[in-house]
Amino acid sequence: MAKKDYYEILGVSKDATQAEIKSAFRKLAKKYHPDLNKTPEAEAKFKEIGEAYAVLGDEQKRKQYDQFGHEAYTNSSNQGFGGFGNGGFSSWSSAFDDDLDLGSIFSDLFGVSFDFGDKSRSRSRKAKGEDLLIKIDLTFEEAVFGCQKELKVTMDDKCDECGGVGGYEQTTCQTCQGRGRVVTNQNTIFGTFQSQRECPDCNGTGQSFKRICSKCHGTGHVNKSKNIDVDIPAGVDNETRLRISGKGPAGKNGGPNGDIYLEFRVKEHPLFKRDNLDIYLEVPIDIATAILGGEIEIPTLYGNLFLEIKPGTQSGEKQRIRNKGISDPNNQSSKGDMYIIINVITPTKLDRNQKDLIKELSLTDLKNESEFKNFKKYL
Ligand SMILES: [Zn+2]
Ligand SMILES: [Zn+2]
Repeated sequence: MAKKDYYEILGVSKDATQAEIKSAFRKLAKKYHPDLNKTPEAEAKFKEIGEAYAVLGDEQKRKQYDQFGHEAYTNSSNQGFGGFGNGGFSSWSSAFDDDLDLGSIFSDLFGVSFDFGDKSRSRSRKAKGEDLLIKIDLTFEEAVFGCQKELKVTMDDKCDECGGVGGYEQTTCQTCQGRGRVVTNQNTIFGTFQSQRECPDCNGTGQSFKRICSKCHGTGHVNKSKNIDVDIPAGVDNETRLRISGKGPAGKNGGPNGDIYLEFRVKEHPLFKRDNLDIYLEVPIDIATAILGGEIEIPTLYGNLFLEIKPGTQSGEKQRIRNKGISDPNNQSSKGDMYIIINVITPTKLDRNQKDLIKELSLTDLKNESEFKNFKKYL
């Protein structure tokens, strides 16, 4: 039976580009998909299109076809689509890799899942281990000054029995002959299709062992409780995230370990309030010092110091003390500042003598400050 010309089938010219061929194939494959197209000729047409594309979509096969015509494929034409046998499948894959809809149309149709050799799933499948996030409670001082902590973490770790290899006396996997992938033939009404998937016996590595490690059962890693010492730098806070690279769970197939991320929950200090790297301290002063001025002792993160209070200090007044704040965890030589907020305390427990003194004071004019005058305007 004379075969129809492949170019004719796809409706493209003899000098069509690969893009044109691919595009024509897609259009026709959608049009004649037997699930969508119920006309009696749809199935035969669909098969024809696939056959034509398997050849024209592959530059080398196309050249052979241009030279020898259908004769080039008579030997393999009984394997499903003509010319589909040896590697012809890859030319299909290029038509699907950026068209998921079409891919699913075919997989629905043939009841097999096509795997077109996703690059991320290379044979050895080295993969970095997962990352772990650990939350650590710190006191205010630990966060401000830094500390060392020993963390007890349960995670996947390299099996120390087999050294993370998974077994002894490595050999080529018999199931996949070292390819890491297995090919299965699917018989459908359109012929025999090949589908590839990762080898279930070696998980795609292509390697197996004469003796599998009994401790890790060939995985190369075991769940282990580990103690990890961490140096927490001075200045971390609730929002700080610290990465400890390469200390996380073991990778797959010799891939690198994951990372550990630390997040902190810092307890509040009863006196010092923190705003990023700055420290705020509310300082109570008595009424006499506020009026007459003086010197008071205050605590800082770095020991006590004496603070000068000028005469006539008001409640809420702010003073800055440079470099008495918190170290920057990313740059330990840089520090925040400390802010003093004055709180003038009105005495509530006075004896009679003290009350008499205050009464005497109230007879003098205490309301000649500008604040009182402004206020009075609105009375
Ligand atoms: Zn092991
Ligand atoms: Zn295998």
